[in-house]
Amino acid sequence: MDVNPGDREEKCGGLMSPIGILKKSADYFITHQCQKCGFERRKKLKKDDNFDALLAISGSKG
Ligand SMILES: [Zn+2]
Repeated sequence: MDVNPGDREEKCGGLMSPIGILKKSADYFITHQCQKCGFERRKKLKKDDNFDALLAISGSKG
C-alpha cells in the first residue's frame, strides 16, 4: 500500500500545525505536530513551497 504523505490531518483526525523548521545543508524540513495527539512529522520542503510563511514560524532565530 502506498502511503502518500501530505499536509492533511493525522489519522486521529487532529490538525497538523507547523511548529518549526529545520535546516540541513541545503535542505529545509518543516515539522508538523498534531494538535490532538501530539504526533510530530517532518517533511522536506521544496523551493516552491511557501517559504516566507514557513520561516515566519521559526521566528527570528536562525
Ligand atoms: Zn493526532
